[in-house]
Amino acid sequence: MTERLFDGNMMEKEIEEKKRNLKENYREIRENIAAAAKASGRKPEDITLLAATKTVPAEVINYGISLGIDYLGENKVQEFLSKYDEYDKKRCHLQFIGHLQTNKVKQIVGKVELIQSVDSVKLAREIAKCSQRLGIVTNVLVEVNIGGEENKSGVKPEEAKALLREISQIQGILVKGLMAIPPICEKNSEIRRYFAAMRKLFIDIRGENIDNITMDILSMGMSSDYMEAIEEGATMVRVGSSLFGARSYPVK
Ligand SMILES: *Cc1c(COP(=O)(O)O)cnc(C)c1O
Repeated sequence: MTERLFDGNMMEKEIEEKKRNLKENYREIRENIAAAAKASGRKPEDITLLAATKTVPAEVINYGISLGIDYLGENKVQEFLSKYDEYDKKRCHLQFIGHLQTNKVKQIVGKVELIQSVDSVKLAREIAKCSQRLGIVTNVLVEVNIGGEENKSGVKPEEAKALLREISQIQGILVKGLMAIPPICEKNSEIRRYFAAMRKLFIDIRGENIDNITMDILSMGMSSDYMEAIEEGATMVRVGSSLFGARSYPVK
């Protein structure tokens, strides 16, 4: 697959079309979220919709913010920084959702309110170090490789608790919950298993009452499966292509 990098030079016509589609897509997704929330005995406002904005120009993102999209997630440091000045930051929560290399941490700490992809003590320590330098505490989620896939980011499910215990000892960083990208499944019934396993882990860890850790956010579900994720207990879904249209850009 060829990777289409963000170039920021989308044609005027393309941008206008994206905005039109976004308005309609957003309305539909909110309805779906409300229905799935209801099916799981919750209220629509209990679920956070985070827009995954990779390859989307800032102009389209800001239009989305004007529609009411208030959580944004970028997954590449360079692309995030290239749009950072343009985001309507007063009206949105900026988060980082992609794999993060330790040497890039200092570029985003202080600019994002939450980093969803912490999967090692080394990464946690670097986030904490950069945060302390700025006199802040950075909120994070621990990413779990719930399918136990090789070459995929995330801590192994059976090692999650130990990692959380270690991170809980570090000043300058606060764990708020868990995030997962389950394996690609042919059937939605298969993916539900992974979502259910995440929810079990989430509840299980919550029950341990580890100091300095809260289990408030369970971030799982993307364009193709966010309704299943909500029905299985997600509190946050990360939706990209269903909001902004298809992109030829692989999810890592
Ligand atoms: C791109 C991305 C998403 C959204 O993917 P879609 O299938 O386009 O909805 C969610 N999470 C992460 C980490 C991503 O990079």
